[in-house]
Amino acid sequence: MTAPTIGVLALQGDVREHLAALESSGAHGITVRRPAELAQIDGLIIPGGESTTMSNLLGVFDLLDPLRARLAEGMPAYGSCAGMILLASEILDTKPDARHLDCLDITVRRNAFGRQVDSFETDLDVIDIDGGPVRAVFIRAPWVERVGDRVEVLATVPHGPAAGRVVAVRQNSVLATSFHPEVTGDDRVHRLFVDMVRRS
Ligand code: GLN
Repeated sequence: MTAPTIGVLALQGDVREHLAALESSGAHGITVRRPAELAQIDGLIIPGGESTTMSNLLGVFDLLDPLRARLAEGMPAYGSCAGMILLASEILDTKPDARHLDCLDITVRRNAFGRQVDSFETDLDVIDIDGGPVRAVFIRAPWVERVGDRVEVLATVPHGPAAGRVVAVRQNSVLATSFHPEVTGDDRVHRLFVDMVRRS
């Protein structure tokens, strides 16, 4: 099967690391900054960063409406951290003028883990990822406070003050994680997404 072409939204965040993880997962990765690039891709990764800044940049780069249109057609998407926030249908603790993509029926809380555990790492069991737990790196991460009926919970925090909090979800062809899989060199989350793109 030919490699799917997967875009990495290149407004902020670990663009190079996501591209590398896509290549090692059998996909062809391209950066996306223009509407014309959106038309070339079979799926899109929205990296972490600062969600209110990224929402603003989506407007500046004229990407908001074309991206909404592709998502409405069912283009698969994977959002990590700020990317999860942008994909969500409802965001708590954001700025009133922040825009979002509204294609994942979840409520997320920004910067939810609080100052004490602001950034941390833990081992997570993730549904549909074999080969043992995934090392998950959280950087001023959101958590998911509500999941809609059609949303699958793929991982929750195993222990500590945030035990039980939902940090990975999937709804049809939309995947989101509170953590950053691109920084560990383990490409299993990217492989899961590349599989979703292949199947869609
Ligand atoms: N705290 C950021 C936000 O709310 C997300 C952090 C991240 O993407 N690492 O947008």
